[in-house]
Amino acid sequence: MAQMRIVKGVAVAPGLALGPVHVVNATPHVVPTWSVAEEDLPREIARLREAVALASEELHRRQKVVAAEVGERDAAIFSVHRTILQDPSTLKEVEKMVREQRINAEAAVQSLIERFHKSLSSIEGDSVRGFASDFSDPWRGVLDALMRHERQVIEQTEGKVVLAAAELTPQVVTFLERDRVLAVITETGGRFSHGAVLARSFGFPCVVGLPNLLSRLEQGMRVAVDGEAGTVQLRPEQVDIDRFLVRLERRRARVKKLSVHAGLVPETPDGHRLSLTVNIESLRDLDTFNPAHTDGVGLLRTEFLYMERSQFPSEEEQYRLYRRVLERMEGRPVTLRTLDIGNDKQLPYFKTPKENNPALGWRGLRISVEWQDLLRVQLRAALRASAHGVMRILLPMVTSIEEVREVHRVFDEVKKQLIDQGYEIPHDVPVGIMVEVPSAVFVLPHMIHEVDFVSVGTNDLVQYLLAVDRDNPWVSKLYDVHHPAVLMALAQVARVAQEAGRPSSVCGEMAGDYATALMLMGMGYDAVSVVPSLLPEVKYAVRETTHTEACQIAAQALAETTSEGVRRVLTQARERLHLRQLQSRDVDEVLGSNDVNGDSKKRETG
Ligand code: PEP
Ligand code: MG
Repeated sequence: MAQMRIVKGVAVAPGLALGPVHVVNATPHVVPTWSVAEEDLPREIARLREAVALASEELHRRQKVVAAEVGERDAAIFSVHRTILQDPSTLKEVEKMVREQRINAEAAVQSLIERFHKSLSSIEGDSVRGFASDFSDPWRGVLDALMRHERQVIEQTEGKVVLAAAELTPQVVTFLERDRVLAVITETGGRFSHGAVLARSFGFPCVVGLPNLLSRLEQGMRVAVDGEAGTVQLRPEQVDIDRFLVRLERRRARVKKLSVHAGLVPETPDGHRLSLTVNIESLRDLDTFNPAHTDGVGLLRTEFLYMERSQFPSEEEQYRLYRRVLERMEGRPVTLRTLDIGNDKQLPYFKTPKENNPALGWRGLRISVEWQDLLRVQLRAALRASAHGVMRILLPMVTSIEEVREVHRVFDEVKKQLIDQGYEIPHDVPVGIMVEVPSAVFVLPHMIHEVDFVSVGTNDLVQYLLAVDRDNPWVSKLYDVHHPAVLMALAQVARVAQEAGRPSSVCGEMAGDYATALMLMGMGYDAVSVVPSLLPEVKYAVRETTHTEACQIAAQALAETTSEGVRRVLTQARERLHLRQLQSRDVDEVLGSNDVNGDSKKRETG
């Protein structure tokens, strides 16, 4: 009874993984749903009852606190809530859902809460709606207890797991320590979303867009994830596992072979030197590459240092972190990007109002300019650390010259204050901007004279140029890094920077595709910045391609009027490189199909 158990999704990060799945609820408002095996139903019911008891205890505790602090009258609501929880008929109803639908306790409780709301929302009046909350609130407490329990259980076990979730968010990717995660698989999520960027930089295989994934999984079920083909095999049989292990071994061998190039200089055969830097987000990343194999850190996304905490990191904490990065890079430049939160990069302790269009809302530099205390603390820490290496400051989401001037004003003030306080600050810490909003592309000819360098954030630039949300799976097909408008913007930025004599780089994910990196070099970019795992591949491609050829790739790509045409040019560049490789050495394939920009399918079939 061979059953097709391969689910096809969208490949986000390469790699293969085999192991037990853990369904995560790290996304606020999303309750995990999974099916429960017949024999596990009694355990699930026990989990539910335990959670009800815990929620009831918690209510009792709150009742006592409020009674002591405020008064018995205000505490009475908690006793009402406990009575609601103790109603045996409601508990029976939830248990019935678990048994009959074979779903986890969280899903059943969530369904009950939704029912309370549906049945009462049709009735007019605030007091009635308040009544609905009174009924559902105690059950929300049960949900909290269940989810806390889920986290405790996974923290207590030791094995590695494949994380599965409804949506690919940074919270899901960082749910467990990196060395406990084999892969990440989700029902929805864009290939250029922040969660995807993070998964790639962590080096996890990652597949998204897996339809009805959670309803097909059971906690602990074994799965095989193929981050290259974008598939997940459920409950693989021994023969599949054996085949998978052979592929895993081959992949390891390829990675090893490529690493031979890691230490070489990224210089073309005709003597053009590209600067190749890395994108990192945490101190952990520092252990994933050899600093001597890079030209520095092209992008240090500092928001992830904030996201892993329960409150804003102090100046001292930030100073120590930045200093460690600088010291580890041993004199190579570190480009520290100021806090770029907002949209889906939320801090658990910094509640912002709900926005209808968060990508167009309160994020990035806008928050720093408005909440200058945050910016000042970060700049103080960064400037103090800059005495221990070579620091560059990068501003995200710049849209106007006024913003740049405002930050410069704060920067100068902070610097002066530090010097007055006796700190030794290098006087030449460069300040550059991310070009990731179309307005910055257009005003760049003026703005360039007020900044020291530019770095193009194509992940955002593409979403804003094409009006396609990078985090919305419904439009992920339209998120097209090869759109001619994207290339025109890229070429314009490189030209303006070159004319003004300012260094330029691209730090968006598209630069991690080696053919694209060659095109960017041909356009005139001085540097590309990629996740450490892609460094050897890009380096190899640069060393095998003349600068003249790279300029031709850029010119041909820019002459195309459709994305299809641009992709064709890049595919041809890849094929030439493969051919050269085969002619010049008797090696197996060295350059893999690691293509973050989405033409791998074409190459497989072409
Ligand atoms: C970008 O937008 O391309 C970028 C590098 O920044 P982030 O992905 O962190 O938004
Ligand atoms: Mg960005």
